[in-house]
Amino acid sequence: MVKLPEFLKTDCYVGGKWVAASSDKRLDVTDPATGDVLASVPRMGAEETDAAIAAAHAAFPDWSSRTAAERALVLQKWASLVRAHADDLARLMTQEQGKPFAESLGEIEYAASFLSWFAEEGRRLYGDIIPPHRNDARILVTRNPLGVVGGITPWNFPVAMVTRKAAPALAAGNCMVLKPAEATPLSALAVAALGEMAGLPAGVFNVVTGAREDAPAIGKALVDSPLVRKIGFTGSTAVGKQLMRDCAGDLTKISLELGGNAAFIVFDDADIEAALDGIQVCKFRNSGQTCIAANRILVQESIHDKFVAALSARARQIQVGHGLEKATEMGPLVDERGLEKVERLVADATDKGAKIHLGGKRHEAGGTYFQPTVMTGVSTEMDLAHEELFGPVAAISTFRDEQDAISMANDTPYGLAGYFYSRDVGRIFRVADALEVGIVGVNTGLISTEVAPFGGVKESGIGREGSKYGIDDWTELKYICLAGLGAAA
Ligand code: NAP
Repeated sequence: MVKLPEFLKTDCYVGGKWVAASSDKRLDVTDPATGDVLASVPRMGAEETDAAIAAAHAAFPDWSSRTAAERALVLQKWASLVRAHADDLARLMTQEQGKPFAESLGEIEYAASFLSWFAEEGRRLYGDIIPPHRNDARILVTRNPLGVVGGITPWNFPVAMVTRKAAPALAAGNCMVLKPAEATPLSALAVAALGEMAGLPAGVFNVVTGAREDAPAIGKALVDSPLVRKIGFTGSTAVGKQLMRDCAGDLTKISLELGGNAAFIVFDDADIEAALDGIQVCKFRNSGQTCIAANRILVQESIHDKFVAALSARARQIQVGHGLEKATEMGPLVDERGLEKVERLVADATDKGAKIHLGGKRHEAGGTYFQPTVMTGVSTEMDLAHEELFGPVAAISTFRDEQDAISMANDTPYGLAGYFYSRDVGRIFRVADALEVGIVGVNTGLISTEVAPFGGVKESGIGREGSKYGIDDWTELKYICLAGLGAAA
């Protein structure tokens, strides 16, 4: 067992108390780079989730009746504590998730930014006064919290995905029950511990952990409870669709941040060095395990060979190793399942004619490391053109012209992010308009920020997180018709 900073917790946080599961069952949390056990957390199920929902329900009247400014003070303090403990949080994240320490530090700041941002946005939940339909009435519209809400988050951004949901939900006056991923519960519990230190009242934010086998029971308890008014989910499209079907039972609201299949288009008028920088960020960051990763790299025919040679030269330099080693630029994949998926997709592509220019195999470091890989000749017959790779594999195809690039990019049921590099102003507007996605990166591979709306179209999701829009889904409008005011005497 590693030594954890004293504010890190290994029990669940329910109703302001740190508690074990009623069965005493526990889940080992491991370092994906070494397989070492870091700690264990409770394996909870429906019974404990119901208790957490009850705690959140009990906390709601007080929390929702506080002023937005009072709630903002707690969220701002929470943000400061996250920033003050950034090094410890980042070290923990690197150990349980595998990403390099510098990337973990970046995610901690990104996570804190949602707490700061939504502390402020909560104070701007303005309503409306509408010109009435009759003289003796006034029409008021107010924006109100929903009540108890559920958050379900993935392992690839184990802190930022928590605060991107909790911050707007709590700022608007809701109380939350959060279920983090099996692989990364310690980061979520650490965030809860800092929330407690910041002065969150008991029951306002609750965390229920479990193993992969426990997730359906926890999810069902959240979805089926008449007290839970909304689920905010980030994860795979398959699970998101199942949750949405389940939510239909009692019409629980749901917002979904799901998988992607981003195209990264390099036109022949692009700044090639800038495009290579962009791929570095949105292909190899987090070992390619991001929903907005460049899944399909489309390069215009005339610059293909030059581009592939330059990308291979760059990718060959990537330092692979444990995320806590200073030189490391890329860590392992999160688990054996993820590694097997990447292997399967690479094998399928090479069987169908793709050519490997670099890598293509498990990394000599062992464990769940995979080599930075560059592959060309990718076509739509290959599985990786349709599935999220979630690995450090740059899969390249060519295109003829602008229309060809747009058709190829949109040839997917997903629509989260899309990227392209061009210096032609007319083309920039045409292609940005034509891409069927929620987020477009033009001449950049780095698009995530708390100030902009994040989310997808088509099968990549419903709703937006972050920005001034990201609080809307956590509120309900109420129309008040104030009549009987009489006509002026
Ligand atoms: P996942 O398997 O769908 O899991 C996501 C979360 O859902 C985890 O907490 C998981 O718990 C839980 N879960 C699984 N089955 C459930 C069920 N039946 N009921 C309730 N909860 C359930 O996805 P993942 O593999 O962890 O994450 C990767 C996916 O997330 C990728 O598709 C990626 O693109 C997507 N993602 C999207 C965004 C975005 O903003 N659009 C951001 C990040 C990631 P367990 O871990 O215990 O199974």
